[in-house]
Amino acid sequence: MRGAPCHGRLMLCAGEVEAAVPPLLGALASSRSGHWEPSTLCAALPQLTSFDHAAGRWEGQGLYVRVPDLKELPRIWSGPNAATPAEGKAGWIELSRGCRYSCSFCIVCSMKAGEFSAFGSEVIASEVVDAYGRGVRSFGLLAAATNYDKGSLGAACSAIKGLGGDVGVSGTIHVNYLDQERLALIRDLRWETMIVGLQTITPEAQRLMKRAEQPDSFGQGIEQLATFATPEVELILGLPGDTLEGFKRSINFALGLPISVSVYRLRLDPWSRYLEKMEPMGIEADFHNLGRVLSVPGFSATEIDEAEAWLLGLGSGQWKYRASRIMYDGREIWPKRERRK
Ligand code: SF4
Repeated sequence: MRGAPCHGRLMLCAGEVEAAVPPLLGALASSRSGHWEPSTLCAALPQLTSFDHAAGRWEGQGLYVRVPDLKELPRIWSGPNAATPAEGKAGWIELSRGCRYSCSFCIVCSMKAGEFSAFGSEVIASEVVDAYGRGVRSFGLLAAATNYDKGSLGAACSAIKGLGGDVGVSGTIHVNYLDQERLALIRDLRWETMIVGLQTITPEAQRLMKRAEQPDSFGQGIEQLATFATPEVELILGLPGDTLEGFKRSINFALGLPISVSVYRLRLDPWSRYLEKMEPMGIEADFHNLGRVLSVPGFSATEIDEAEAWLLGLGSGQWKYRASRIMYDGREIWPKRERRK
């Protein structure tokens, strides 16, 4: 869970929200003045960390605190404190927490590499039905990948299909976990957003990132997904082990697929392996700009700027790619929308 700026400083509260936040709220409520210094709060609660801009480092432990059993958590969509749908009749259904991977840039690793726990089929199915009863029509299936755990996926899909045809879903799909059974489960859903991580096809960058998608099998998986959805494939600019040429190769590979492409500049997040190892790995980042990576060995700051300019330039001239869209850090490069007057 990410926190909000506090006293002009970024403060993060680490862990599963049900375990991490109540003690924080309790501490804040106990302050007579309603005013806590970040360092005092960090000293009182091990799950907190705060970025000290002057010193250029995080202070506090930022320990990842966990709930003992997901199945025992209060339901979101039933009971006296049941949630109400967000804008667009949207609502989340959590399938699982944790991840089977531990990518070096990601903070999911905070749950320990490969650690993964599911909510259970019964909980998922009843949450879907209750959420629908409260007006949800756009289901966000929350998990590192909705298709990791067949049981959770099956429970969510059959409950959603049982509701009728007026609902859409969003979620993350991992191409390495696409077998015929999983494909059959997800293909009948109406996908509004389907995120698929690629990040890079540069072998050295994949090795350092600790996750490798093989271009051939990735492309085959995408072609299958594209028969019933438009996958939004994510890539990262500035990965250790990547180069200017490698980055362009990755982007060109992605643009040749029937997808929407989203590119992000690498950022060093707390608890990520890249932040812990930034000095020995020779990573330079701007901590006045949330840890945005400036350079890595083999990919200088000038080259990263050049890569960024090349990327933004893809939206000029005639579009010649199979991909239908490309975004950079949330900004649309192609297609360009007419500016509203
Ligand atoms: S980036 Fe995705 S696959 Fe990698 S550790 Fe994070 S959640 Fe898992």
